[in-house]
Amino acid sequence: MKAHPSETPDNDSPSPLVEVRQIRKYFPVAGGWFKPKLYVRAVDGVSLTLRRGEVFGLAGESGCGKSTLGRCILRLIEPTCGQVLFEGRDLGSLPPEELRRMRRQMQIIFQDPFASLNPRMRVREILQEPFAVHGETEGMEEKTTELLEAVGLPRDSLGRYPHEFSGGQRQRIAVARALALKPRFVVADEPVAALDVSVQAQILNLLLDLQQQFGMTYLLTSHSVPVLRHVATRIGVMYLGKLVEVGPAEEVVTSPLHPYTQNLIQSVPVLPGPVLSGEATGGRVKGNGQAASAIPIAELPSPTSPPTGCRFHPRCPLAVEQCRVEEPELREIKPEHFASCHLA
Ligand code: SF4
Repeated sequence: MKAHPSETPDNDSPSPLVEVRQIRKYFPVAGGWFKPKLYVRAVDGVSLTLRRGEVFGLAGESGCGKSTLGRCILRLIEPTCGQVLFEGRDLGSLPPEELRRMRRQMQIIFQDPFASLNPRMRVREILQEPFAVHGETEGMEEKTTELLEAVGLPRDSLGRYPHEFSGGQRQRIAVARALALKPRFVVADEPVAALDVSVQAQILNLLLDLQQQFGMTYLLTSHSVPVLRHVATRIGVMYLGKLVEVGPAEEVVTSPLHPYTQNLIQSVPVLPGPVLSGEATGGRVKGNGQAASAIPIAELPSPTSPPTGCRFHPRCPLAVEQCRVEEPELREIKPEHFASCHLA
């Protein structure tokens, strides 16, 4: 049995940019007198390697831990334990000043551009803020104009406030801000989930164009596996704080190995007529980037007390006795394709 790629060097793959080693993030929840303290196990032992220049898609239902994992990798929240290595350096052991310098290489695009942009700042101030924070005040006006052009917004946007823009335009501003310092790594946390369906594909295509232009590495989260298929190199699927499947994007979608992934894909409704659900057109997304959103397959068990054995067993149609008592490991079933299921 071969271990997960994060634990084994792979000489054929591009060198890793980010290595996540056994990250856990537990959030304490209010207990009471005579009650044991409870923890939400948002991320519960995830290991992952992100290769330079790839788009890694992270899928799963709301509450599976994908957004928390993204924030832990960027150290926007402190993991309970585990390591994150960026270009081989352990972010947890860096002095604050060095971590601050390293942060310019790692940016995030949030889900909701309505909440992530300061409504009291004009676009010029929003885009110049990252340069100012890192003391790069020279030539800021030209740099911000270039950024606007890169994300397809007119120059006169600089003097306007976020509320004067549509949702898609605001997300373009958020993308421009994230890319201002030319980061090497970007976490895009459900970047189109809060947008109107008519502009979702535009934003996904913009992200892809910029990624190819600047050679960045993306961790892109979404609850929709089919959408990730068309933008990601590889896809990882999370369930209750754990990775249950990782593999090449096309293979994960067409030949999923884990019953949860199969369920996620099957729960996407097929819409009749010309409405497209992330249909690929030469590597780009056409039409509605998320027209087919995943339908919850059943209630998610509580992350404070996950089921024993395989966490998916209460919802799994294939569960056998072994699944209730023994936790399956994430193991390589096909080349580069990993799954944690006793029956895979
Ligand atoms: Fe289902 Fe068992 Fe596989 Fe878990 S280990 S996904 S319960 S078959």
